Amino acid sequence: MSSSSIKVRFLIDKERKRVVFVEAGSAFVDVLFSFLTLPLGSIVRLLNKQSGLVSLDNLYESVVQLDAEHLQNDACKEMLLHPWSVAARQCGNLKIKYIYELYPVLFYICRENNCLIQSTIYYAYTSTVPCGSCGNLMDFEVDWPKKILDEGGIFVNDTVDFIMTDDLRVMQSSFAKGLSILKEMQIQDASILEERVIDFGTKEALDLLKRSLISKNVLTEFCFPDACVEASGDSSSSNKDEIVAGEAEPEAENEIILELFLNKRNNEVLCAEVGEDFINFLFSFLTFPLGSALGFLSVNISHLGGCIHNLYSSAKSMSSDCFKSEICRDMLLTPKLSTFYEYKKQILKLKEGLLKEFIVSGKITGKTFIEQNPKSPKGEKDNDGAFVTSSKRFMISDNLRVTPLSLISSMCSEIDIPISELVRKEVSMDKTKSVQLKIAAGEILGIMDMLFSMNFCTMKQ
Ligand SMILES: [Zn+2]
Repeated sequence: MSSSSIKVRFLIDKERKRVVFVEAGSAFVDVLFSFLTLPLGSIVRLLNKQSGLVSLDNLYESVVQLDAEHLQNDACKEMLLHPWSVAARQCGNLKIKYIYELYPVLFYICRENNCLIQSTIYYAYTSTVPCGSCGNLMDFEVDWPKKILDEGGIFVNDTVDFIMTDDLRVMQSSFAKGLSILKEMQIQDASILEERVIDFGTKEALDLLKRSLISKNVLTEFCFPDACVEASGDSSSSNKDEIVAGEAEPEAENEIILELFLNKRNNEVLCAEVGEDFINFLFSFLTFPLGSALGFLSVNISHLGGCIHNLYSSAKSMSSDCFKSEICRDMLLTPKLSTFYEYKKQILKLKEGLLKEFIVSGKITGKTFIEQNPKSPKGEKDNDGAFVTSSKRFMISDNLRVTPLSLISSMCSEIDIPISELVRKEVSMDKTKSVQLKIAAGEILGIMDMLFSMNFCTMKQ
């Protein structure tokens, strides 16, 4: 652990047991910013299905439980549960190996000699894709060579010093900024301050990741886990109506229909019945990198429960000198999908990244590698990049548990009100209603259940 940990200096208000700010170099800031490059499904996986974002955890678990018969193929399940990050190789250079060690960067090729001697070799990121030449599973593991970066940090410039507030606002360090934080926190007397140095390793990095999603006092809670701090914002209630669409313009060629079942007394959505289009729309959020998901919400990300949006806003507003390059900044603000991950009917359009160059040593040197499309390894129709292909209908509970429709279990588990109070509404999500869908991207970060109520509210008008 000692070889891959970072010493971070905390300034503590020892009277009120809170963190004033943290002083850190580029290595620590790179680790924090790398959170933005993680696909949502990988966040749930790294946090052992306990991200604290109940809806997201439920969505992930729904994929775990989903029978293979509903999916295009086995690889699709793996793509949703273990989505590859386009920045994974850069992140292999992070000083704390929270991604690289817990989530090794591998690819898979065919182990058949006849295939290995060809000049072109197929590869995939999951071990469940058949070989394009012989049809056997490509399950021979090969380590991605670590991406060798130029000197000077991964995302941020290693000549810059940073400070970071309790709620993860990152800024270039200066005496004036330090003073203004003291003022903001109404600290008059410097004698209540003390320095604490903490070693950050993998465990601590994952702890911060989790807290950043659900808490507004991330560093304080990290330092004083037993202290009673100000409650984290309740993201699911107060300001629903203030949420408006962000800047990016979503596109939609297709409309998606869902049927909602509501309690007519309070308009609460109990469940929804949907087809494969909506299921793919929902599941594909697991492949969205966090930074892009936050980007879709752009102006109104502050309604989320945690303070990860401050990290995003910092990356957006910090001066160019703080970053290694604008490309590095873009990897945080608009991280792309991995190749072949796009679901073409997804209304929130996100581009796939291109990941071409790599060098392989050993007996497979000097070959051309072609990535196999895991969704259609034999060149068959890939159904608009769908993960789920099923003529079955699905039920979604308001906290995003997705199950194939079973009338009996729905009647028993979803309906806890008198049948006479149940009403049915059909909602169509098309281009004209794209505003609602933009909200959907944010809801997946913990309050996706609002997707339904927002739709209903709009419909009522
Ligand atoms: Zn083969």
